[in-house]
Amino acid sequence: MKIDMSYGSGGKQTGNLINDIFLKHFDNKTLNKLEDAAVLNVSGNIAYTTDSFVVTPLFFRGGDIGKLAICGTVNDLSMMGAVPKYLTAGFIIEEGAEIETIDTIAQSMAQAAMEAGVKIVAGDTKVIEGKGGIYINTSGIGEIIKPGISISNCHEGDVIILSGYLGEHHAAILSSRMGIENSIASDCAPLSSIVKSLIDENINVRCMRDVTRGGLATVLNEAAEHSGCAIEICEEDIPVSKEVQGFCDILGLDPLYMANEGKMIAVVPVQEADKALGIIRDNKYGKNAAVIGRMMGGKGVILKTRLQGTRSIDVLYGEGLPRIC
Ligand code: MG
Repeated sequence: MKIDMSYGSGGKQTGNLINDIFLKHFDNKTLNKLEDAAVLNVSGNIAYTTDSFVVTPLFFRGGDIGKLAICGTVNDLSMMGAVPKYLTAGFIIEEGAEIETIDTIAQSMAQAAMEAGVKIVAGDTKVIEGKGGIYINTSGIGEIIKPGISISNCHEGDVIILSGYLGEHHAAILSSRMGIENSIASDCAPLSSIVKSLIDENINVRCMRDVTRGGLATVLNEAAEHSGCAIEICEEDIPVSKEVQGFCDILGLDPLYMANEGKMIAVVPVQEADKALGIIRDNKYGKNAAVIGRMMGGKGVILKTRLQGTRSIDVLYGEGLPRIC
C-alpha cells in the first residue's frame, strides 16, 4: 500500500498511520496519551537539539534513515555531557511512499531508541506531493550530568582521542549510490554509552564532538579556533580501515573529510588520556579508538604525515556529498 494525500488529512487515514505504525513501535505512556504536547519530568540543566534527515538511499549497509535520525540527535545531546532522555519525531512523507517502508523505518527507530535509552514522546506526520521520498526531523532533550563540556574548553597539552575508524558512513552511502560492491557498512551508532562511561569514571572531559558532516578536519578546526589553540595530529595514528582506505585511494577521497555517524573525538587532559582511551576501547563502538594528536600553542590544524612532512588541514570547502544524513 502506498501513501496518498488522504494520509495527511488529519482524519481517519492519518489516525491509522499513527496507530498502526508509530504507536505500535514507539509505544510509551507519554506518547500513547496523544495529547497536544508531551509532559515531561526532567531535572537540572538540559541539552536541547534538533536535526533533519534527508539521506538517500533510505536504506544502506549498516543502517537506514530511521536509525540515523535517532543516533544523530542522541549523539549531539551526548556530546554536551548529557544523558539523552526524550525525542520528538516529525515525518514529512511524499505521496507514493510505501507504508511498509515507513513501518520498517519506524521499527528501526524504535530499536535505536531502545538501545540509547530514549523515548519518542511526541511526533507529527505531514504528507506532500512528490515521488515517495521520506524525511525525518528529530529533536531531543537530555539531562546534563557533566556541565562545562565545550568546543571552547580545550587547553594546550590536552590529548585528542578518536573513537574509531573514519569514513565508514560516507563510503557506505557513496558505494550504495554508485552501485559499488563492497562490505563497507555505515558506522551509524549511539555514542551515549561511551560518554556515560567517561563521565561515570570521572574523566575530566574538556570537549566532545561527533565527527559528522565535514569530517574530522572540520571538527578539529572548530576545536582549535574556539579554544584558541593549535592542533597537531599524526597521520599514522588516525584509524582508517583497510577497506575504506582502499575505497578512498580509488576514488581520490580523503578520510579526514568524510562523514561518520558513530564516531566522536574526546579531548582530555594528558594525565587522563590512557584511562580515557581504555574506557572508550572497552565499549563496542570504540574498539578501534586511538590517541590521534594534541592541543598546542598557536593556530590551525597541522598533520604530521607518514613521510615526516607536515600539512596544514583546513575545514571542508564546497559541497562534500549531499544528502548523506
Ligand atoms: Mg554534532
